[in-house]
Amino acid sequence: MNAGQKMLESAQALIKKTAQNLKLDEEKIKRLIEPEYIHEFALEVQMDDGQKKVFKGWRVQHNSALGPYKGGIRFHPETVRDEVQALATLMTIKCAVAGLPYGGGKGGVAVDPKILSKSELERLSREYAKKIANFIGEDIDVPAPDVNTNPQIIAWMIDEYQKIKGIKSPATFTGKPVSIGGSLGRNEATGRGGLFVLQALLEKRDLVSCLPQSKETGAIDVKLLSSSFQNITIAVQGFGNVGYYFAKLAYEAGFKIVALSDSRGGIYNEKGLDPIKVMEFKKKTGTVQDYKNSKNITNEELLELKVDVLVPAALENVISQKNAKNIQAKIILELANGPLTDEAFEFLKEKVIIIPDVLANSGGVTVSYLEWVQGKQGYWWGEKEVNQKLKEMIVRAFEAIWEKSITKKMSLKQAAFEVAIERIVSAMV
Ligand code: NAD
Repeated sequence: MNAGQKMLESAQALIKKTAQNLKLDEEKIKRLIEPEYIHEFALEVQMDDGQKKVFKGWRVQHNSALGPYKGGIRFHPETVRDEVQALATLMTIKCAVAGLPYGGGKGGVAVDPKILSKSELERLSREYAKKIANFIGEDIDVPAPDVNTNPQIIAWMIDEYQKIKGIKSPATFTGKPVSIGGSLGRNEATGRGGLFVLQALLEKRDLVSCLPQSKETGAIDVKLLSSSFQNITIAVQGFGNVGYYFAKLAYEAGFKIVALSDSRGGIYNEKGLDPIKVMEFKKKTGTVQDYKNSKNITNEELLELKVDVLVPAALENVISQKNAKNIQAKIILELANGPLTDEAFEFLKEKVIIIPDVLANSGGVTVSYLEWVQGKQGYWWGEKEVNQKLKEMIVRAFEAIWEKSITKKMSLKQAAFEVAIERIVSAMV
C-alpha cells in the first residue's frame, strides 16, 4: 500500500467511525466518503529543449454540501490520485471545522518542480489552469497554493484562466500575490492561527483537569497552564512558512521557544531562542544548526524533548509507533498535516492533549476565505482587520470543538470530526 492509499484509508476510516457514532445511515456515509468528482488529466508541456513531456494531474472535488470546493494544488513527484483524494476529503472536514462556507477539494501534479526551469514551470502551471478552467470558479471551486506551489504559480494560473474565460475574477483563486488581490496576513496565517488556538486552549486551564489523564504518569499537568505564558516551553519542528511564523509570533507573545529545527537538524537552548535572530542566521548559513549558545540536536531528539508544547510543523508521520512512547510534551499542536500516525495517536491520546491538524492549521484556509470575501466584494482590509477576523473565527472553531470534547469526553480530534460531520450533514439536502 503506498502512502497515498494509506492516507486515504485512514481519512475514510475516521469519517466512517464518526458517522457511525452519530448513527448516520449508509447513504449519508457514502456521500461523506465518495468524492463528487475526480478529474484526472495528462498535461502536455513543452520543455526548454523543444521536447514535449507529459505529466499526470488531478483535481478532486470531494464534497460541496457547505459551499464551493476549496483546496490547494500541490506539485510533487510522489503525488498520486489517492493522496489528492485523501487531502480533498480532509479539506471537506477542515473547512467545516473552521466554520467556513466551503466544501473540500484538492489538486495535484506528479512532478518535481525543482528540476524545471522557470519557463517550464510557468508552462506547466498554465496547462494545469487550462485543464481545470471549465470546472472551477468563485462559486464552484476555489484553488490555492499548497506544497511546492506559491503566489507566482497562482498568478500564472489566474492569467490563463482569465484568457480562457474572458473575465477578471479575483475570487476564483486564493493565495494570490497582494498586487493582484491577495490578502494581507496570508503568509503568517497558519502559524498565527495555530498560536490563537494554543492560547485559547491554555485559557481553559481550569477545565483541563477534566481531560483524561494517564494514571501512571498523570501527564496533563494543570500547573503548567499558568496564567503567564512565559514559563511555557515550546519545541518547533520545521522552520518554513508555518514553523517560522508560529515560532516568531509565540516568542513575541512571551512563550519560551527552546528548540527549533529544519531538514538538516535542530538546536536546543533551555534559556530560550529568538526565532527572528535564528532565521537571520539560517539565511546566511542555510541551516539553524550551529546557532550560537545552543546545542545541536537531531529532529528525532527534538520530538522527544521534555517541553510543555511540541509543534510538528514540517512533515507527516513524524510521530509513529517507534517514538510515541518517548514523547514527553503535554500538548501537541499539529501544525503540519498528519504528523502523527494512527497508531501514535491511539497511544498518546490519553496522555497528551493533541490539537488536531484540521483545527490547528486551519488559519491558512480561514485567511484564504477572507481573501475570497475581499475579492468578491472588491474591497480589501488592512492587516490588523484580517488578523482580528482570523482570531474571532478560529477561536470560535476551537470553542465548538472544546465544548464537544468536554461534554462527550472525547479527544479533540474525534470532537473535530463530529462537529464537522454534523455541519456537513445538516447542509445535505
Ligand atoms: P515549508 O516548505 O515552508 O517548510 C517546511 C519546513 O520543514 C522547512 O523548514 C524544512 O526545512 C523542514 N523540513 C523538511 N524536511 C524535514 C525533516 N525531515 N525534518 C524536519 N524538518 C524538515 O512548508 P510549510 O508551508 O511551512 O508547511 C509545513 C507543514 O504545514 C506541511 O505539513 C503543510 O502541509 C502544513 N500546512 C501548511 C499550510 C500553509 O499555509 N503553508 C497550511 C496548512 C498546513
